[in-house]
Amino acid sequence: MKVVLFDIDGTLVKAGGAGARALNHAVEAMTGHKDACAKVQLQGATDKANFENAFKAGAGRKPRPKELAELTRRYVARLPLEVMASVKAKKYLKVRGVEKFLARLAGRKDVLVGLGTGNLKDGAFIKLEPSGLAKHFAFGGYGCDSHHRSVVLQKAVQRAAKLRKAPVKEGEVFVIGDTHRDVEAAKEAGYHSAVVLDGFGDRSLIMRSNPELLTKDFSDMKPWLIWLGLEKDPRGVRRGTYICPDSPIEHAHYGRTGLDLRDIELGIRKLREAKKKVAGK
Ligand SMILES: [Mg+2]
Repeated sequence: MKVVLFDIDGTLVKAGGAGARALNHAVEAMTGHKDACAKVQLQGATDKANFENAFKAGAGRKPRPKELAELTRRYVARLPLEVMASVKAKKYLKVRGVEKFLARLAGRKDVLVGLGTGNLKDGAFIKLEPSGLAKHFAFGGYGCDSHHRSVVLQKAVQRAAKLRKAPVKEGEVFVIGDTHRDVEAAKEAGYHSAVVLDGFGDRSLIMRSNPELLTKDFSDMKPWLIWLGLEKDPRGVRRGTYICPDSPIEHAHYGRTGLDLRDIELGIRKLREAKKKVAGK
């Protein structure tokens, strides 16, 4: 069984700035400050963190828990209107090929498809609504689960295990996003990672985060199916086992697994242990 987790913004859909507008609206209503999101890097972070930062940009201080709850309520109330505005302005887009790719995965009994997103659960489904893609996602990890994207992903995997009624191994989880933060979170949790370049991520940061697969969108399904281990590599290379790719072209085209990834995982494991020590756990 494989668990495939999709980020939403820039990976499944582009909501034409609906989220930022809804958040701006909520911050302005509470602090009088306009366009607070202009000062905040929203992409790849969780809603929870974005709400705090946007409020701080507007009010000059952190929100109290009550204020954060009100901000969240106002955001969720405003979001459907902003999403519809994007649809009307033809600025709401699906990432190319994602519909077919999801339909292909949905047809397989050995694949569970879920969300791994920084969006709050309510916000996630409001954003997905016009795309018609929501039906594919029976479970997920959301921005309301944690500030930390790696924990969001782990939550999604716990829910997948519940659905499947069996534990899910780290190596069975595949995370698809559009920013380096998606990749870093996946690696921190010990999962596979891939990136679509047609989203909102910063290319140089994405390159540095070193995902296993890096491709424009889903219009060519082949590399995705090979990465997921659902199709054989035409070059006969078994994924995740080779040390050095046969050629630089293959390296660039099909991403990097094998020794590369294990090195990184080892590094992250050491970092996590060090973090735990500092936190006194
Ligand atoms: Mg994204």
